[in-house]
Amino acid sequence: MSRILIVEDEQHIADGLRFNLEAEGHEATVVAAGERALALLVGERRPFDVVILDVMLPGTDGFTVASELRAAGNFVPILMLTARGSAADVLRGFEAGTDDYLPKPFELSILLARVKGLLRRRRWNEQEPAPTEAPPGPDVYTFAGRTLDFTAMEVRVRDETHRLTVMECDLLRYLVRKAGQPVSRRAILEEVWGLPQDLDTRAIDNFIVRLRRYIEDRPAAPQFLQTVRGVGYRFVPEP
Ligand code: CA
Repeated sequence: MSRILIVEDEQHIADGLRFNLEAEGHEATVVAAGERALALLVGERRPFDVVILDVMLPGTDGFTVASELRAAGNFVPILMLTARGSAADVLRGFEAGTDDYLPKPFELSILLARVKGLLRRRRWNEQEPAPTEAPPGPDVYTFAGRTLDFTAMEVRVRDETHRLTVMECDLLRYLVRKAGQPVSRRAILEEVWGLPQDLDTRAIDNFIVRLRRYIEDRPAAPQFLQTVRGVGYRFVPEP
């Protein structure tokens, strides 16, 4: 049984979620305001395994809740519910530290699958593999003494481990697959995250800055994650 916090002010959505999550055997708690979510998670340090977080909330919005949680050192997996078609929301959510998103209105089955994915990730992180699920296949890439573990969603460099969000993980995987080739910001938006190309592509740069902090010795003078002027970026495993 997993403990899931639903942060949603639309009561019919919150009730539907709770009903279905409980039917799947989880323990679901509903709050209607961001302040209440922060009070439970940060103030009272109540343990949850996943947070389903609506963006549009009265008072403190979902972005703020996510960034305050991360700032407080709380890395509970967050599934953010965004407005349909709002790619800007999606990127803002990921910058705030959410792990996954789902546009509203959503298919319940898809939401449950996403929650399951986040729970699985959490179990791997806690090294308590669920006996009913197949063990994750080898999904590890090593270069220059760095290990990118796409299953555990982390980067290991010497004795340091950095957690990755789903977005960061997908972006790294894409760059590795295209190793040696320049990739454009637009290609990243569309092919990695399925976001429309009319979005401000500079949002990508913030992600690259974070990834460089994880893998580069000197992030300001990157060796592996190079900028290709006028194009975008290139991952070079052996510079
Ligand atoms: Ca709402």
